[in-house]
Amino acid sequence: MSLYPHLLAPLDLGHVTLPNRVLMGSMHTGLEETRDWNRVAAFYAERARGGVGLMVTGGMAPNREGGVFPGAAGLFTPEDVANHRLVTDRVHADGGRIAMQILHAGRYAYGPDCVAPSALKSPISPFPPRDLDEAGIEKQISNIATAAARAREAGYDGVEVMGSEGYFLNQFLVARTNRRTDRWGGSYENRMRLPLEVVRRVREAVGRDFIVIYRLSMIDLVPDGSTWDEVVTLAKAVEAAGASILNTGIGWHEARVPTIATSVPRAAFTWVTRKLMGEVAVPVVTSNRINTPEVAERVLAEGCADMVSMARPFLTDADFVRKAAEGRAEEIAPCIACNQACLDHTFAGRISTCLVNPRACHETELQVRQAPSARRIAVVGAGPAGLSAAMTAAERGHRVTLFERAERIGGQLNLARVIPGKEEFHGLVGWYETIVRRLGLELRLGHEATPDDLADFDDVIVATGVRARDPGIPGQDGPNVVGYADVLRGVPVGRQVAVVGAGGIGFDVSDFLVEEGQSPTEDLEAWLRTWGVADPAAARGGLAPEGPRPHPPARQVTLLQRKAERPGKRLGKTTGWIHRAGLKMRGVQMLSGVTYERIDARGLHITRNGAAELIKADTVVLCAGQESERSLADALAGRGIAAHVIGGADVAAELDAKRAIDQGVRLAARL
Ligand code: NAP
Ligand code: SF4
Repeated sequence: MSLYPHLLAPLDLGHVTLPNRVLMGSMHTGLEETRDWNRVAAFYAERARGGVGLMVTGGMAPNREGGVFPGAAGLFTPEDVANHRLVTDRVHADGGRIAMQILHAGRYAYGPDCVAPSALKSPISPFPPRDLDEAGIEKQISNIATAAARAREAGYDGVEVMGSEGYFLNQFLVARTNRRTDRWGGSYENRMRLPLEVVRRVREAVGRDFIVIYRLSMIDLVPDGSTWDEVVTLAKAVEAAGASILNTGIGWHEARVPTIATSVPRAAFTWVTRKLMGEVAVPVVTSNRINTPEVAERVLAEGCADMVSMARPFLTDADFVRKAAEGRAEEIAPCIACNQACLDHTFAGRISTCLVNPRACHETELQVRQAPSARRIAVVGAGPAGLSAAMTAAERGHRVTLFERAERIGGQLNLARVIPGKEEFHGLVGWYETIVRRLGLELRLGHEATPDDLADFDDVIVATGVRARDPGIPGQDGPNVVGYADVLRGVPVGRQVAVVGAGGIGFDVSDFLVEEGQSPTEDLEAWLRTWGVADPAAARGGLAPEGPRPHPPARQVTLLQRKAERPGKRLGKTTGWIHRAGLKMRGVQMLSGVTYERIDARGLHITRNGAAELIKADTVVLCAGQESERSLADALAGRGIAAHVIGGADVAAELDAKRAIDQGVRLAARL
């Protein structure tokens, strides 16, 4: 019997049967905007081959004003239909099914032509929208229905109508964004009118034997959001209007509650979807922070939904479903929900990819092919750069020896995994261990490689990583000063702490110090309390009236930097605000524009705004960045042994695992 009987059970939709309960959720990858439709097709086809039950494309605009940004991909013209056809043909040839998401951004559209129910600017866009008159509303509905008809013409198996996340349809539903007094505003019946009319007209446009998914915001997480009664009323009405599947939307984009970041507990919102089970007859899909077959199976077995949506896990591993079905779940590359290479890229106008899998969205360009002849390759350092290079080289048929000074692989990932909210890194290191074993690499742990060890290999890859930068503060050799790595490895730290350096690691270490072993990510109730999330049946929009209630901090922490800018400004676009808000909630004081003068038994002496200050501290923790560890690279150069230097050993500035892994895979793909 299958290990995942619920997940791998077929789903009969009447005119079509899906082979399993896995939906690949919509993601904006930026590929469509390249206009390279073969590349788009290659992305989806690879995932179709991996066995996912149904895929949903990134949001396609139904018209220019509804595009997420000017020039956003859509389905407007006969030429667009032909382009989309390339995608659907490839997906079908590979045995998959694909629905096109129709996304009208409303006031979230990042452009001057945006439209909305009312002329109310959103807090996350600089563009005030124009409110629509009766003719304008009819145009939007008609454009959405036409896009659905074109999707059918282009060969899609269905459409998803994006009705959640605070986009156009959602904006009609709540008084927060809909102040109209005509038949499209006022009572809930009136506010529901537009989404329902959209579904009715879409169904009319596509006929009966076509999937229509409606993505419904089940917990808005914004003030004045929908009540649970309204959610249920809408769900029933959307079903009656012709939807064949209801998908779950969690939180508007402007919500100040994290919904998909790594610090959100796994399956944190499936209880919300579960409340809708039994209220409608069509299948209900649940979503958010589901990233392993075990979690997905549990969610379905507990009756939270009929189907599970996962999006980012399919960037990390296109073969997620196939590996689960073949009993190889431990080989599935895990999505750590970091957003660093997917969503953060999207917001920067770059093509999405994946920190763990740089091939995602680069399928046509970055290929890992069998090498023409097997070479003997030495890789020194089993951090993310070295591991990626070693694994990729071995996959290509090279004979790889991986040297690691420590007793286990993982490098800096082993520090990340002890940070509260970064528990996903355990899975990532575990996955590397599995793959290293499976590929049969020769692993030499606890061995510091010397030039003599490396002299006889065909290729040498140096991935020796980084060492902590010395900030040179007078008094830093005192007994009350420790480096971040020692703190994360468990050396004792006092109750009052000054953290020198407010980069990614300074933030992480501060989190570690205030939480002291109690990670809300591991305790759903504590996490919901921390961020002020309530049952939407008890509190409108699911926001607790009493607000966030984090547990008291374990320590008093001051986080400092020399730059005058706001601390945390350079953290990830989609996650930096969570780190800042999390530390603020726990009373961490953040100071910028400081000069470090000296450290003594009383704490850290600084100058700020021209005045001397003492930051009282029992312990001062140094998180002042890193420098490349190049001693081996230099020694090899001295001996005339050629080596490829990658990861932190190459460039330490702004180092993160994304660049390290990308560099490792790309190097090994061409050796
Ligand atoms: P970092 O981001 O470069 O930050 C180093 C910090 O040290 C800065 O705040 C810097 O601020 C300070 N600093 C630099 N030189 C100093 C000196 N001589 N004396 C005193 N302070 C000094 O490095 P990191 O925090 O070690 O992080 C390393 C990499 O890992 C980064 O790329 C980071 O993005 C990544 N990372 C990311 C995350 C994440 O959540 N995405 C988490 C952890 C790490 P001032 O120069 O203004 O003082
Ligand atoms: Fe997941 Fe991070 Fe990859 Fe995005 S970049 S898919 S969040 S692992």
